[in-house]
Amino acid sequence: MGFLDKVKSLLPKRKEPDLKNNIPKEKENIRKTFGVYCRTNHNTEGDKLCSKCTALLSTVFTKISRCPYGINKPICDKCETPCFGEKATNEFITIMNSNQRKMLFSHPMMTIKHKMASIGMDYAKRERDKKQTDKQKQTEEKVKAKISNAMKSPKSSKSKAKAKSKKKKK
Ligand SMILES: [Zn+2]
Repeated sequence: MGFLDKVKSLLPKRKEPDLKNNIPKEKENIRKTFGVYCRTNHNTEGDKLCSKCTALLSTVFTKISRCPYGINKPICDKCETPCFGEKATNEFITIMNSNQRKMLFSHPMMTIKHKMASIGMDYAKRERDKKQTDKQKQTEEKVKAKISNAMKSPKSSKSKAKAKSKKKKK
């Protein structure tokens, strides 16, 4: 074993980024939210959903299983590329947003966790947008620098050439 390997073996191992499967939790959260919504708005009883909510829920669940983001997907009500179709997405978001307070009472931990995930998504998006604008600024500055260099360079190359020719003459 080389010295470096020894040092490496002594250092704490870097944790692999854990790929959490978010889908079961999200499905549970959505199902419960639908339940609360349907009970209050469609007068259903217990855990049963009305036919309309059942249909919407099955659409949503099918789409989640095929989510292009995979198991590490963002939460659906914060997704930038919702895949439920426009009508279903609107209905879905209405349901998810409509009874947050009720959800907080009936399933506090789940609602708080979902809220945290949603805040996390907002934060990640903001950071990404910030990075993008920073990158844009950088490229703009690079372009500006290139332009100004291009304006300067003919003179400087000429003067260099002159200097060279002078040296040759000597
Ligand atoms: Zn319903």
